[in-house]
Amino acid sequence: MDLGIAGKNALVCAASKGLGRGCATSLAREGVNVTICSRTEADITRTADEISAATGAKVTAVACDITTPEGRDKALAAAGDVDILVNNAGGPPPGDFRDWTPDDWHAAVNANMITAIELIRRTIDGMIDRKFGRIVNITSGSVKSPIAILGLSNGARTGLTGFCAGIAREAAVHNVTINGILPGPFDTDRLRGNMKVQADKAGADFDDFYAKQAATNPAGRFGTAEEFGEACAFLCSAQAGYIVGQNLLLDGGAFRSSI
Ligand code: NAP
Repeated sequence: MDLGIAGKNALVCAASKGLGRGCATSLAREGVNVTICSRTEADITRTADEISAATGAKVTAVACDITTPEGRDKALAAAGDVDILVNNAGGPPPGDFRDWTPDDWHAAVNANMITAIELIRRTIDGMIDRKFGRIVNITSGSVKSPIAILGLSNGARTGLTGFCAGIAREAAVHNVTINGILPGPFDTDRLRGNMKVQADKAGADFDDFYAKQAATNPAGRFGTAEEFGEACAFLCSAQAGYIVGQNLLLDGGAFRSSI
């Protein structure tokens, strides 16, 4: 299926690896000019080269911290007129809310709510003028099914989701859509890092622990960044203009509900 977005410009944030990289790769395969960013220069440059070699697309690497105003300036300057924006950043650490200071909250809200809102604020009017825009926020399954130790994530990402629910209805008439993708467990460095901590705590062998955890998912496995990217690319497609203000849970069926 041709997604009808060849030649569009995308900014995919936090994309040297994991879910962001998956999204950038799927968009590049559709002929989108993709700008990707992350903080570590060597990693983002290598990833851009690899995606470009694999897809033939123009992929521009920007080394920046997207949670800072300077980082956003740098990424937006490189991306040009952004038609497709994929908001993503590192997730806040787990913990006990009794230990979290206002500074911890400000950092989480800045990274996982305000950063995305700022990038939307600075790109949406151009999308509206050009009568095409696709904004996808990578949030978390914890927006729908909160996990107590991820309270910083639950709070900040739910704030972003609520904010976008309002403006999505204003933008839709201009063929500009805003949607969220809520990842459940995906096999990325982040997931493996968290699982290593848990395996060590339990005194378990990592591979054994990992396999047992994956088997508890209804799909019998964790998701892949590639399949996450494909779902993102569809939400960014020309065909997806009527998908507005939705939050797509990708978790292999882990969250049990009838609808
Ligand atoms: P990952 O594999 O650890 O990759 C994170 C990417 O983000 C890296 O490219 C990293 O590169 C970049 N990054 C982190 N902080 C950044 C910043 N401030 N500015 C620019 N780039 C930054 O993580 P992931 O699993 O793909 O997760 C992506 C997001 O989805 C996170 O917010 C995570 O909490 C959320 N999530 C993931 C899962 C899962 O199962 N994987 C589940 C629920 C939610 P640098 O470190 O070089 O900057």
